[in-house]
Amino acid sequence: MTAFLPFLAALVVSLYAAFARVRLLPWSIATAVAIVGVGVLAGSSALAIAVPLVLLALVAVPLNLVGFRRRKLSAPALAAFQKVTPQLSPTEQIALDAGTVGFEGELFSGKPDWKQLLKQPKPELSVEEQAFLDGPVEELCAMVNDWQITHELADLPPEIWDFLKKKKFFGMIIPKEYGGLDFSALAQSAVLQKLMGISGSLSSTVGVPNSLGPGELLMHYGTQEQRDYYLPRLADGREIPCFALTGPYAGSDATSIPDYGIVCKGEWNGANVLGVRLTFDKRYITLAPIATLFGLAFRMHDPDHLLGDVEDIGITLALLPHDTKGLEFGRRHFPLNAAFQNGPVRGKDVFVPLSQLIGGEAMAGQGWRMLVECLSIGRGITLPSNAAGAVKAGVIASGAYARIRKQFGIAIGRFEGIEEALARIAGHSYQISALSKASAAAVDRGEKPAVPSAIAKYHATELGREVAKDIMDIHGGKGVQLGPSNYAGRGWQTSPIAITVEGANIMTRSLMIFGQGAIRCHPYVLREMEALKISDYREKLKAFDAALWGHVGFAISNAVRSFVLGVTFGKIGRVPGDAYTKRYFRKLNRYAAALALVADTSMLVLGGKLKFKEKLSARLGDVLSNLYIASAMLKRYEDQERPVTDQPLLAWAFHDCVYRMQGALDGVLRNFPVRPVAWVLRALVFPFGRREEAPSDRLGHRVAAILCAPGEARDRLAEWVYLTPNANNPVGRMNALLPDVIAAEPVERKFLKAAKAGELAGYDWDSQLADAEAKGVIDAAERALLARVRAATFEFISVDDFDPAELAAGKRTKPSSLRSVA
Ligand SMILES: Cc1cc2nc3c(=O)[nH]c(=O)nc-3n(C[C@H](O)[C@H](O)[C@H](O)COP(=O)(O)OP(=O)(O)OC[C@H]3O[C@@H](n4cnc5c(N)ncnc54)[C@H](O)[C@@H]3O)c2cc1C
Repeated sequence: MTAFLPFLAALVVSLYAAFARVRLLPWSIATAVAIVGVGVLAGSSALAIAVPLVLLALVAVPLNLVGFRRRKLSAPALAAFQKVTPQLSPTEQIALDAGTVGFEGELFSGKPDWKQLLKQPKPELSVEEQAFLDGPVEELCAMVNDWQITHELADLPPEIWDFLKKKKFFGMIIPKEYGGLDFSALAQSAVLQKLMGISGSLSSTVGVPNSLGPGELLMHYGTQEQRDYYLPRLADGREIPCFALTGPYAGSDATSIPDYGIVCKGEWNGANVLGVRLTFDKRYITLAPIATLFGLAFRMHDPDHLLGDVEDIGITLALLPHDTKGLEFGRRHFPLNAAFQNGPVRGKDVFVPLSQLIGGEAMAGQGWRMLVECLSIGRGITLPSNAAGAVKAGVIASGAYARIRKQFGIAIGRFEGIEEALARIAGHSYQISALSKASAAAVDRGEKPAVPSAIAKYHATELGREVAKDIMDIHGGKGVQLGPSNYAGRGWQTSPIAITVEGANIMTRSLMIFGQGAIRCHPYVLREMEALKISDYREKLKAFDAALWGHVGFAISNAVRSFVLGVTFGKIGRVPGDAYTKRYFRKLNRYAAALALVADTSMLVLGGKLKFKEKLSARLGDVLSNLYIASAMLKRYEDQERPVTDQPLLAWAFHDCVYRMQGALDGVLRNFPVRPVAWVLRALVFPFGRREEAPSDRLGHRVAAILCAPGEARDRLAEWVYLTPNANNPVGRMNALLPDVIAAEPVERKFLKAAKAGELAGYDWDSQLADAEAKGVIDAAERALLARVRAATFEFISVDDFDPAELAAGKRTKPSSLRSVA
């Protein structure tokens, strides 16, 4: 036995060193000391001590002798790496350069430093931003009648357009020096969420000018002259902007736009100037039908070399005023009954001078970089906020309706089937709000959160669509019958819009989240790739050697951490949090290690092919995303000072994330093409099999209950929902009725019991109620309460009906598709 003790000591020290990420030299020394120390103390033979020492020396000495290691180990590895590493396309390189790495990098490291997350400042609105939310935003919400917008006008009414311009809703991102509001990303998010709860068409109309488009592009890349002229006009709505990139032949693959501009001389304001003659066909462009300023992406060519040697200058962005000769716009698309303005823009041989290029001639050919850089910011705000606004309003509406609507003599919220749907709404809402707040906060910290914004866009909109489905199911026919009193149907109808825009979701999941995250967030892969670009061989080898051995140590550590945390069910390690959340932090440590291990192995084994294995890449992205969402929720819980009443919500949402992570990892391993590698990975990641479970029914019951009664957890969940109970806000009015509905429940039970027992005279509700009071089953005040609640409730269970002529909303149409056939 004593013969094995030095071996055992070496193993234990090595495992600990790998787990704790001890560096190479300290590990070598500590292992040698352990072998000798344990051997001597245990009285092992000289041979039993010598053999592990020699084995250790065989590994540790070449690795610690840096010169030897570089020449004999790293140089051949560099040669091989150079052969197999795929060259990044210029587009991929631009996408990689366009963002920064925040906490997602920690998650990808396999050993997140939670202090980094928790020390981030709590996202808060300024006094001015809060005043805007309480003032103009409330005022605007009170003016909105979504049925009028989506059905009667198919547009915002003139007074709302005027109000939006007057109160500078289109200038939220524009600096004050140019007359804008200069709001934080958090404030933009809050405004959009509040508007979304009352009208999706309105929040999309407000979201677009504050997102990727002329305003943001001018702020970052415009010439001083362009900024001075356009930004004040954009801030106060004198200019309505749109941005046209997409066309019939270029959707997701936006870099393939066939729209072109030829450098030439032409007429502009009476002068003969150098410019571009543009030919383009764009579609799906939000605000285009009524825009006054068109941002346009096109490929610029200079065949006559009027600007220099380069003929294909590349993607370039221009600004076209609405009265530019030859610009065709004004027709509308009809996106799933949403009424925000959206339509095509076309032009043939439209001339604009070089001074209309965004950033002037100096930025010609830089268009793609400009777009990707801005997208990494905007994508994290508009769509996640809209999704958050919709689900939060859904929380209030579904919870109240499930309490108000009675079938089989009880509130439908008490049926277990409805409870399941309510719990999903609550849990997903908790996830989406934490996620959208985290991505807005990252922007406010000055990050360009390319990966988190893709995560936020994809998951907020996907979860939002699930919530929209649950809201519809809870409302039954009430959700289906459209009309002024239906607050659910439009959300359901339009949920695929958010899925499609700003990077359609399937592509975002399959290509972008992990594809970019893996290279950008991995602590060594980018460094290895960067090393290949160094021209001086000695420097290249030096950089590659450092990255390579760092990477090897990282991989070993992740394998050990993944296994040890798997065997211990992630119950060890120092983590922050309170008694309730420590286990959550630990669980995330376990899955972060597993992600790092599986991602690294996938990149090593599949190399460049991983890019085309979209199903694997998507699942690895799901793990990263759920780690990110779960971290955002823990941060939210800490920021809100650990509210006990939120714990069921956090628990449901957390277990849902972990369950999804487990499913995604299992999916990777089941489908991993190199089977022996998958077997080893499975043993390391799931040593005792898949043990995570979906949130339990009991937990679901507690979470659903939060939605159906006023309370502080429900209030926190409904942050920034427009709840003022005015005429156009049925959700606000229904919510205001909830305390009365709850107070009436015990009275109603007494009344129904007596009615069922046949003790009450009369055939209708009113006469039975009168008899109940007469017989002393209920008293006068109770009767008044029941009558009041029943009358008020009727409004919320009612649906609209129409004269058939009223429903003929549109004229007989001849859309462009039919005209082209004719
Ligand atoms: C209402 C609305 C408003 C819009 N507003 C604007 C605007 O203001 N300005 C503007 O320029 N554009 C706008 N768009 C365009 C929007 O950005 C595009 O619709 C989007 O880029 C997707 O292009 P596509 O619709 O042509 O789909 P396609 O590119 O044809 O994609 C179809 C499907 O294939 C998937 N797919 C594509 N490539 C891959 C891949 N490599 N791997 C996996 N799946 C893939 C996509 O995810 C999608 O599910 C808007 C669109 C809509 C619907």
